[in-house]
Amino acid sequence: MNLAALSVAEARRALDAKEFSALELTNAYLDTIKVKDTELHAYLEVWAEQARAEARAADERIARGEASMFTGVPIAVKDNILIEGRIASSASKMLENYRASYDATVIKKLKEEGAVFLGRTNMDEFALGGSTENSAFGPTKNPLDTTRVPGGTSGGSAAAVAADLALLALGSDTGGSIRQPASFCGIVGLKTTYGSVSRFGLMAAASSLDQIGPMGKSVADVHMLFKAIRGRDEHDGTSVSESLYPARPLKKVIGVPRSLLAKGVDPEVLASFEQALETLREEGYEVRDIELPSLQHALAVYYIVNPAEVSTNLARYDGIRYGLSVPADDIGGVYSKTRGAGFGPEVRRRILVGTFVLSSGYADAYYRKARAVRSLIRAEMADVFQEVDAIATPTSPILPWKLGEKADPVSLYAADIFTVPVNLAGVPALSVPVSTVAREGKNLSVGFQLIGAHGAEENLCTIGAVVEKVHS
Ligand code: GLN
Repeated sequence: MNLAALSVAEARRALDAKEFSALELTNAYLDTIKVKDTELHAYLEVWAEQARAEARAADERIARGEASMFTGVPIAVKDNILIEGRIASSASKMLENYRASYDATVIKKLKEEGAVFLGRTNMDEFALGGSTENSAFGPTKNPLDTTRVPGGTSGGSAAAVAADLALLALGSDTGGSIRQPASFCGIVGLKTTYGSVSRFGLMAAASSLDQIGPMGKSVADVHMLFKAIRGRDEHDGTSVSESLYPARPLKKVIGVPRSLLAKGVDPEVLASFEQALETLREEGYEVRDIELPSLQHALAVYYIVNPAEVSTNLARYDGIRYGLSVPADDIGGVYSKTRGAGFGPEVRRRILVGTFVLSSGYADAYYRKARAVRSLIRAEMADVFQEVDAIATPTSPILPWKLGEKADPVSLYAADIFTVPVNLAGVPALSVPVSTVAREGKNLSVGFQLIGAHGAEENLCTIGAVVEKVHS
C-alpha cells in the first residue's frame, strides 16, 4: 500500500474493489504514526482501538454495498473539534481532561459517512498563533524539515497529512490556520466561506472569523471533504445553505494586489508565486493587477477583532463550568488562579488586548473603528469580485521558520498579512503547494493562495487544480 500516492478517489475505488480493507488501511496509517510521530508530534492522542472498530464497521458496510465516499477513509481531527466521549483540549491545560458531551456537526456528518477517526491533532492553544509552538503539550515539527515549524494553528493536522499519518484532516481557520500550515507542510487547505460549514462543536476562538475546513494532499481530496461537511445546520444560526450563493461562471481572470507584494515578501516565495501566475497564463487565464487599498489595514483590524472576540469567548473557562479548577479561598481566587494556571502566554496576551479594546473609553477608538474598516475590506473585495474569479497572493510571505526562532509575537502576527483579510471578509480561500525552495539541504514548500467570492469554492478548486503540484 503506497500511502504517499493514495488519493480519496483511489482509496474509495480500492476499498470497494476489496483490494484492501478499511481495517488494513487504518492499520497502515496507525503503523506509520508509530514510526514517525514520536519525532513529529502531529497527534496529541491516537485513537487506535476506536479507529480499528470504526474501520471494521466500515468494512461491514462496504460488504453490504452501502458505502459512501468516506466510508473507511482515515481522517485526523484538530483538537478543537468535539467528538462525543473523547477528550478535546484545544491543546490547552485548561481542557486537558475535558471530554466532549456531543459530536460537532462535521463529525456527525462524517460518522454518517462511516469515516474512521485516527486521533486528535496538535495545535496552537485555542487556535491562537501561527506555528503550533503555542501548544501546552509541546510543538509539532514540520515533516519537510524537522528543525522548522509546521505552521499553525492547525499544524498537527497539516503535518499528519504531509507525513502520511492520515489521508485527510479537519482543521479550523480564524486568520489562516488551515492555509498557512498547509503551505508550510506542502499540502492543500481550504478555508471555507463563513457559514458554509457548521461551527457547532468547534471550540470558539473568534466567532465571526472561525471556520472548519478540509486539509488534504490534493485539491480533489479537499474538495470532496468540503462537500461532505458543508451545509446549513439548525445548531449554528450563522450557517447557510449552499444554494444561497448563485453559481459564478468562470471568467478566467485572476487579480493580483501588487502593492501588497511590494515589501516583506521573501524573494523566493515571490518567484514561486510569479511562476504559478505564469502557469495560469499558459492555461488561458488573464492575470490583472488590482487595488485593495484597505488591505494595508487588515492586520491591525484583525489583531483587534480577534482578541476582542477571544477575550469574550474564553470568559467561559472560569474553573467552575469547564475543565481545570484550581481551589482558592473565594470565587475570585478560583477564577484568577484557574485562568493563570490554565492559559498559556499567548492566550493571556489576547485576553488582555481584547479586554482593553472592548473597555469603555477605548471601544470607540479601537474596536468600533476596526469593525468599520472591516466593512470596508469586505466591500472592496466584493467590488473586485465583479471583475475577477479569484485574487491570488502567496499564502505566507515567508518560508517556515526554525522552531523557537520567532519569540516576538508581533513578528509572528506580521506573517498573517495575506490570510487574515479572507476571514475578515468571510470569503473562501484555497492554499495550494506550487513549488519547493531548497534551504540547508531540505526542500521547503511554498503555497499559492486563491481567494474567491462568497460561495466560490467550486471555482477556487477548478483554478487550484491548474496550479497544484502534488508533492510525492
Ligand atoms: N495566526 C492567526 C492568529 O494567531 C490565525 C489563527 C487561526 O487561524 N486560528 O490569530
